[in-house]
Amino acid sequence: MNNILLLGPPGSGKGTLSLFIEQQFGYKHLSTGDLLRDEISKGTPLGKTIADTLKQGDLVEDITMVNLLTEKLAKNTMPLLLDGFPRTLGQAKLVEEKYPNFFSKVLYLNVPEADLITRITKRLICPKCNAVYNQITNPPQKHNICDQCHSTLMQRNDDTLEVFSNRLATYKKQTHPLLGYYADCAITINAQGDITKIQEEIKKVLS
Ligand code: ADP
Repeated sequence: MNNILLLGPPGSGKGTLSLFIEQQFGYKHLSTGDLLRDEISKGTPLGKTIADTLKQGDLVEDITMVNLLTEKLAKNTMPLLLDGFPRTLGQAKLVEEKYPNFFSKVLYLNVPEADLITRITKRLICPKCNAVYNQITNPPQKHNICDQCHSTLMQRNDDTLEVFSNRLATYKKQTHPLLGYYADCAITINAQGDITKIQEEIKKVLS
């Protein structure tokens, strides 16, 4: 199946690059982080049960994620760009059982750890349209206002140094091994430095 998975540590640029890939190549972006944050801000029963998990930088249980995603995967006919799912070997195996060869490409965003910390602690997001900014490298045109939908920007409550180290440790232990699981379709992208250069590299890989 012609779907793409974006794999990379927190702060590696999955959200920002997803927007680019969606606009350039017509994939439908599905971010489980955005979906879960939506549930929390709407105060749904699921949102209430997972709010603390996200705040602490831990992972939501596989079964919850699979239940949330199965219906969305089945409904979608266009090629999907998945950002944040699967995030554990358990989730990957469940996807594979239901939809063999679900991903045609797994793009691994490789960024040095030191860069991740700056990206995360200076990140701003739009709670309405999920656009991502950086106070230093990619500021909005108007202070704290989303360029796209004009909502007030905010910092994620898991974008603190302390929670980031837990998210990074969780990524290394539970998510990075997916690179081995998807070895036959994984492509490493040097996602350090200038965004235009990274976009060019992605363009080459997807064209
Ligand atoms: P990042 O990759 O920057 O950490 P995301 O927005 O992808 O951020 O995810 C935010 C949080 O949402 C994660 O720390 C985790 O708590 C939860 N989450 C997202 N996707 C999954 C998933 N597939 N399985 C379990 N938890 C998830």
